[in-house]
Amino acid sequence: MSNSSAEVVIAANSLSRSYKDVQALKSLNIEVRRGEIFGFLGPNGAGKTTFVKLMLDFIAPSSGEIEILGDSPARLNRARIGYLPERVSIHPFLTGRELMIYRGHLLGLEPASIQGRADEVLKEVHLEDAAHRRIATYSKGMQQRVGLGLALMGRPELLILDEPSSGLDPIGISQVREIMQAQRKQGVTIFFNSHQLLEVEKTCDRVGILNKGTLVAQGASAQLSTSRGVRFQLENINDDIVSYVHKLDSKASVEGNSVVMTVEDLEEERKLPARLVEKGGRLIKYEQRTESLEDIFHRLIANSDN
Ligand code: ATP
Repeated sequence: MSNSSAEVVIAANSLSRSYKDVQALKSLNIEVRRGEIFGFLGPNGAGKTTFVKLMLDFIAPSSGEIEILGDSPARLNRARIGYLPERVSIHPFLTGRELMIYRGHLLGLEPASIQGRADEVLKEVHLEDAAHRRIATYSKGMQQRVGLGLALMGRPELLILDEPSSGLDPIGISQVREIMQAQRKQGVTIFFNSHQLLEVEKTCDRVGILNKGTLVAQGASAQLSTSRGVRFQLENINDDIVSYVHKLDSKASVEGNSVVMTVEDLEEERKLPARLVEKGGRLIKYEQRTESLEDIFHRLIANSDN
């Protein structure tokens, strides 16, 4: 695999992984660059966890290659990665600060620096006021932030987060988002798995969409969006209107009582309402459509299932 770009932090090249007769990942090519937040989306069973396990060297590829921070996962110094599993098991009888200190020792940090680092991290995850309380008394959101703190203790270059917002309320979700964005500002690269499309759209620079082990798309969500368009809602749609619209070009169609077309064809868009009315349609509504990540997700998954 090429080492030409130092900026590539995660590189998967024709990466495949099978479990007996289940092919969980099929020839995956992924590139995540330094300093970006990359969201990994896919329905249950798509292969997201398998990819995370390969990144962390919990399992080995069946074929193909994966490099993390320019090295194979088996050779990589694990302190360069911070990992937040979906379910963090945290010692409930320790305080947040004790737990960070414990992690600092496990990571082999310089003993004299550990307390200072623990306080710094507790501040970064907004737990400084709860630092001396036992974790058993923390809310779900606070426990998730402790988990993030544990992942941050060793000043990782790459954070791998498995469903970091799952089970959190909207305030908890935005706190996690803020923490991720603050880390990104410090140059940390973040890879996270999620089912929460809105969250991914708000937080990520780029997304990868996985379905049945195949990467069906990768890019900025704006780049994945191909069908921003306008929608005219009409009454009295007749055969004349339907055949007219179908003759226009492949980007216009009749859906129920609406006519939908893309915005690239501005000339046609301008003329269309009057033409439709001339042909007997009654214009009820005109709306600009922008495709959300959720629309993109459903479209790509449906296309790849066909
Ligand atoms: P979810 O969102 O439900 O966590 P996922 O996208 O993380 O799903 P994976 O857990 O990677 O998906 O699973 C991908 C496929 O591999 C699934 O068909 C799953 O049943 C299968 N699989 C995963 N682990 C094993 C295993 N240890 N043995 C056999 N099959 C497995």
